[in-house]
Amino acid sequence: MQRLAVACILLLTLGFSAPVAAQDVSKPFGLPVAGPPGPNTWLFGQAYGNTAGAYLRGDEWYRAGQRLHFGIDLSMRCGTPLVAIGDGEVVAADDLSFGSAPHNLLIRHDAGYVSLYGHLLERPPLMVGQRVVRGQDVGLSGDPDLTCDSRPHLHLEIRSLDYRTTYNPAALIDAPWDTLALIGPFSYPLFQQDLDNARRWM
Ligand SMILES: [Zn+2]
Repeated sequence: MQRLAVACILLLTLGFSAPVAAQDVSKPFGLPVAGPPGPNTWLFGQAYGNTAGAYLRGDEWYRAGQRLHFGIDLSMRCGTPLVAIGDGEVVAADDLSFGSAPHNLLIRHDAGYVSLYGHLLERPPLMVGQRVVRGQDVGLSGDPDLTCDSRPHLHLEIRSLDYRTTYNPAALIDAPWDTLALIGPFSYPLFQQDLDNARRWM
């Protein structure tokens, strides 16, 4: 187990220290956290779309998204600083008609999208109409269950300017998603399972 953890950390570190080629112009955004991933910082908790979480809890949690998970989740302890994924303007803070309680933040980006930061720890220290630049601190991560040890994470959505369409953030954020996806999902089953013997690894 220890070896696995070390291997995973190495993998993640390598993924982030590899020479960076020219920026992918089709991916206009950066990650919403400034530091590298890892067991003590943040991990990719849940992908966009028809995830195991959507299958198990879609009726309860993702009704607004036709029962699909319409953002990505990055697992991290409460109070982790979050940064703007791109330049833009704050269009809402704590507008819970967008969900993702207890606190949220929406930024309209110059690149033609709106990002939503959900489940924040407290009201973001920003005013509606305020300009933000990529990498600027915009708030602190929290936990939708308000305990900070239940499932603390950032829920991040990227929507169209009219808010009606959500996009897969992995398609728009320049990051090593394949590497990130190797470790970190919530405690839902990660690998294919033998349905007749759910405890058996395949
Ligand atoms: Zn989420």
